Amino acid sequence: MLAQRISLLSESGTAAAREAAQDVVAAGHPIIDLATGEVITEPPSSVREGAIAAIKAGTNRYTSSIGLLPLRAAVAEKLSTETGISWNSEDIVITAGAKQGLLDAALAVLDPDDEAIIIRPCWPTFPSQVLLAGAKPIFVDARPPTYIPAIDAIRAAVTPRTKAMIINSPNNPTGAVYDRTTLQAIGDLAVNYQMWIISDECYSNFVFTGVPHESIVMAHPGARSRTILVNAFSKELAITGWRLGYFAAPPAIISAAKKLQSHTTSNANVIAQQAVLHHLQVGDGSYEREIHQRLSDARTTGLRILADLQDVSPPIADGSFFFYLDLSRLLSSLPDGATVRSTEDIARLILKEVAVGSVAGGTFGDANGLRLSFGVPPDLLESGLRRVVETLNSLKTRKAAA
Ligand code: PLP
Repeated sequence: MLAQRISLLSESGTAAAREAAQDVVAAGHPIIDLATGEVITEPPSSVREGAIAAIKAGTNRYTSSIGLLPLRAAVAEKLSTETGISWNSEDIVITAGAKQGLLDAALAVLDPDDEAIIIRPCWPTFPSQVLLAGAKPIFVDARPPTYIPAIDAIRAAVTPRTKAMIINSPNNPTGAVYDRTTLQAIGDLAVNYQMWIISDECYSNFVFTGVPHESIVMAHPGARSRTILVNAFSKELAITGWRLGYFAAPPAIISAAKKLQSHTTSNANVIAQQAVLHHLQVGDGSYEREIHQRLSDARTTGLRILADLQDVSPPIADGSFFFYLDLSRLLSSLPDGATVRSTEDIARLILKEVAVGSVAGGTFGDANGLRLSFGVPPDLLESGLRRVVETLNSLKTRKAAA
């Protein structure tokens, strides 16, 4: 008999979509995988050189549970530059990816029966981690086309049990980038109702609106004492598999994370820590600018192709690297008797018929969405999106789709 908490979880839908795509490839059918939540490119040479140097030097020991001091200092400096707000090493915890930082945050602030507000569509790990902490996810729906949450809807979800609010801008899956007014209003709610803000900013390098990413602590400095700002190197440096992230938080959360990490992972992988430290010491920002430019170009190309969709509005895709399609109009215009009735059916169909991987919105708590990544190499993206457009545009005229 397993513990009850396991029954609260289902396997990550994004991981399941990735595995479904891999199964098709393993069966000998090449696919264009737009399901992936990664930028498909090589990591910077500085990161690789840092890792090799650390291995050659025989680096092998535990680090402090919250990470190497020079790395924490370098991350604090990076965050100070990016936010224009001063941080130092004591404010920083190094984690095994953003995922561990988010779990630390949930375990540190949520008691059983507490409530945590989550904006939906959402990355499925947010509610799963809230459940793991014994607390209750309370969803607030953000609606298309902007997917920016209405502040009144968030306020209406607050109860005496609300302990935290999880926000994610730039957003996975919707691509929404919260404007300053929204961030300020969220900050006000946190202060007025004494809630924690767990702010997942791991797509901060991927904003395409012409202005840099704005963190909640920049928009609302007064909310900093209630904010756990989570970020990672996974996406920015294309090192998802290396598992390195961080968070910045008030002292009580830092000391909670020291305890939590000392009893769970001990520390983030020391080679990855040394590698990213080396990058932060010698990197001049050119890799980050190049990856941003590549994604910006991919977004422009993709939006041009997606403009040919019928019965589906082009996505906004202000940030992250996902096109998130709202298929509600298309689904409601399908003929009676069509066998394709849901976004799950559509994701299955485009994988089977035109060999393109995607993630259906149900994974994110939204029956109408379909997520397509533009982190894949440009030629694959173009071909994959054209196939998706062709297939979606054909659905209305099919009698009984496969
Ligand atoms: N947060 C969001 C919103 C994500 O989309 C992801 C990965 O897809 C993560 C966190 C996980 O980041 P990491 O790989 O650094 O744990």
